[in-house]
Amino acid sequence: TGPATEKFIASAEAHSAHNYHPLPIVVASAEGAWMTDVEGRRYLDMLAGYSALNFGHCNRRLIEAAKAQLERVTLTSRAFHHDRFAEFCTRLAKLCGKEMVLPMNTGAEAVETAVKTARKWGYQVKGVPDGRAKIVVAAGNFHGRTTTIVSFSTDEEARADFGPYTPGFEIVPYGDLAALRAAVTDETVAVLLEPIQGEAGVLVPPPGYLAGVRELTRERRVLFIADEIQSGLGRTGRTFACEHEGVVPDVYLLGKALGGGVVPVSAVVADADVLGVFKPGEHGSTFGGNPLACAVGLEVVDMLSTGEFQERATELGDHLHAELGLLTGTGKVTEVRGRGLWAGVDIAPAHGTGREVSEKLMERGVLVKDTHGATIRIAPPLVISKEDLDWGLDQLRAVLS
Ligand code: PLP
Repeated sequence: TGPATEKFIASAEAHSAHNYHPLPIVVASAEGAWMTDVEGRRYLDMLAGYSALNFGHCNRRLIEAAKAQLERVTLTSRAFHHDRFAEFCTRLAKLCGKEMVLPMNTGAEAVETAVKTARKWGYQVKGVPDGRAKIVVAAGNFHGRTTTIVSFSTDEEARADFGPYTPGFEIVPYGDLAALRAAVTDETVAVLLEPIQGEAGVLVPPPGYLAGVRELTRERRVLFIADEIQSGLGRTGRTFACEHEGVVPDVYLLGKALGGGVVPVSAVVADADVLGVFKPGEHGSTFGGNPLACAVGLEVVDMLSTGEFQERATELGDHLHAELGLLTGTGKVTEVRGRGLWAGVDIAPAHGTGREVSEKLMERGVLVKDTHGATIRIAPPLVISKEDLDWGLDQLRAVLS
């Protein structure tokens, strides 16, 4: 810290709601995998905005696309068509192998949109009696912060004192196919899951789970909604985390990296027999699918179409997991989970809490974030160099030594 940092933090504390507990660093600028604070100190970003910054800070290609669009038109509302909309939806649908896109802004809005889609599909297509639609979700989920979404969270901190809660959800243990099978009834319209649970600590389900979910949902005529908001768009070494199990869900939920770390962009992507349930007036958003969002999102889709970022995440991810595996061998780390350039690292209690390790890493110029007490999450921008990644890992080894 320093005088400027302290001043900024004190006024933020005084005049903003305390709904976060940030590390005591005040960022002033950033480029690629690096951020610079108001004291002029540089930090390696190993969190990447919870995967919103997969392409790095101020990615030139994305910034140029945004700048060009800023000079043309930024917002029309969906009351009118604009000339970036069709192209964005067409290319994103193609990337997902689906027919239709419903663009929103934040991840939580995409999840809410999917809940509405599944319910309407259940009543109109599946024939579920009115008001009876049920959606099955997993314990430990994180899908956002709206009142409906926290209604089916199992995290007491996220839920307490925010009731009354929205009914229509059933929670089963994550990774347990038998429990899921038992929960699905004729009134079930959807199973909503993260293919890897991010906020829970980067939990990878047992092999065969996602494929089992796919088979079960197909058999029982239930929509499989994959929340790929954090896991998707290159992070795990594939465009979608579901691909690791050869699974294609009925509905993809995308967000975070879709806006390139520049603007909030999210989307629900599915075939016409699912998203076709919406008619004019039934759902919308003033900013959803705006020209600036579409221009940046289009560039993101183009960048992902070549596969180069996925390849990078695979190569660097293999390296990251090999190095973290060595740390597990030393007993300083109790478990490492993850896929691609994404890891949940459980710190052995003798070496401090996740928060303490995050703070010590910050002092050494590396930024990560803790979750659930003992875990730190590592998810650097996919553009990080191998040298920088190794340097970051050196700092982690030093903190744990
Ligand atoms: N879904 C998943 C899997 C997430 O990880 C998140 C955010 O962390 C969300 C949804 C919510 O996204 P947002 O914060 O943009 O509303």
